[in-house]
Amino acid sequence: MDVEEFRKYGKEVIDYICQYGTNIEERDVAPTLDPGYLKKLLPADAPQSPEPFKDVLEDFEQKIMPGVVHWNHPKFFAYFPSGNSFPSVLGDMLSSAIGSIGFSWASCPAAAELETIVMNWYAKALGLPKAFVSDAPGSTGGGALQGSASECVLVSLIAARARAISELKGQTSVHDSVFLPSLIAYASREAHSSVEKATKMALVKLRIIDADEHGRMRVDLLRQAIQNDVNAGLTPFFVVATVGTTGGCAFDDITEIGKVCRQVSSIWLHVDGAYAGNSFILPEMRVFSAGLEYADSFNTNPNKLLLTNFDASALWVRDVMNLKSALNVNPLYLRHEHLTGVDYRHYGIPLSRRFRALKLWFVFRTYGIRGLQEYIRNHMALAKKFEMLVRKDERFEVRNDVHLGLVCFRMRTGDEPNHMLLAQINHSGKMHMTPAKFNGRYVIRFCVTYEHATEKDILEAWTQIKCFAEEILRDHQL
Ligand code: PLP
Repeated sequence: MDVEEFRKYGKEVIDYICQYGTNIEERDVAPTLDPGYLKKLLPADAPQSPEPFKDVLEDFEQKIMPGVVHWNHPKFFAYFPSGNSFPSVLGDMLSSAIGSIGFSWASCPAAAELETIVMNWYAKALGLPKAFVSDAPGSTGGGALQGSASECVLVSLIAARARAISELKGQTSVHDSVFLPSLIAYASREAHSSVEKATKMALVKLRIIDADEHGRMRVDLLRQAIQNDVNAGLTPFFVVATVGTTGGCAFDDITEIGKVCRQVSSIWLHVDGAYAGNSFILPEMRVFSAGLEYADSFNTNPNKLLLTNFDASALWVRDVMNLKSALNVNPLYLRHEHLTGVDYRHYGIPLSRRFRALKLWFVFRTYGIRGLQEYIRNHMALAKKFEMLVRKDERFEVRNDVHLGLVCFRMRTGDEPNHMLLAQINHSGKMHMTPAKFNGRYVIRFCVTYEHATEKDILEAWTQIKCFAEEILRDHQL
């Protein structure tokens, strides 16, 4: 493709994106297809000869789009938001066009320096403790953009493991792996599965702590479990607290968990705020960030609740040396002479890194903190509206405390009719939601996700839910 073709098709693609966004409601929110649909439509081998780009775009609309779930559709209420916006897409386009791989300061000084600046803007916007802000006086901390919250959890756990092993090892020369059997991590039953995955990968034990009826980690049980494990000769080294659990958007009490962690010197406290951490941009939500001063690390995804497209997950640590000593390798081919420049390859798993800070910078500048606050407040108000509608109908119940954009509800029947309700709604293609188990009960998660969501979207959704529910209640004489 030459530059003139790129100009022509580039404009067409932008027009397509605008059209897509404007007319998205004409599409079903999710397809009703069976696995293997695309195999029937595409050849088994890549073409030997170049094909006209026009044909590729046509096939995109006719073959790929029918299999797309539209996460930016006003009737998409599943999972958590995918976080997207025009400024972010434009920032990402430029990052793709530049194509610089920012693993070290020398490999792309702008990427390295913008990441530092944006991570400090972000930390200050969320009101994080100064320890996480790299330009705060006396700070040893800082942040880096990772690909996902799962990566943030893993990277934190690896750093915590390295710190704990180093303490256990002292001056001895035994291999680090000798200490693995004694290491034990803790997370609540409501913590995200990425914690379990991280402990699996790191070959350390995980103790699951029960949650209370609000979905918050039981701190008394955590304290007891740690004490029992210490008595049994184990080394508690990592605790994950969650602010905004996946199942019910519950907020663990970081202060109380932090106090327990402080009683055992080797414990690293990680706070996972993949979705809800972003809400700390609102002063009124900071009641839930109290206690972050106890945390060794904290993550939140701007690609969930800060209008930034995937991938972008922010991780801050209290002491960047903990990351560097766990992850630093330094072959000659990566060295450079600018020793004061930040090399972000020491802050995560991959060597190569996309210029993700660019899209986040575009988002901060085009919305401003006020614009981002308004966006989140709108989601909160709409979730409250939906909660109110559900609570007013005695056939339904709300199961979680609604603090942000997620409402977990169910019909006051057994689980099976609720399974049916969700399946029938999702098969209709008109709305999309996902299930969860919250406090031992099957619930339907209704999460406000659309950037420009309005009360009309919520009212229409509730009307549809009631229609489907009425049919099920009638057909099954419930
Ligand atoms: N932590 C929490 C609380 C989550 O809700 C999620 C996903 O929704 C994750 C971690 C994993 O996020 P990611 O898909 O970025 O790995």
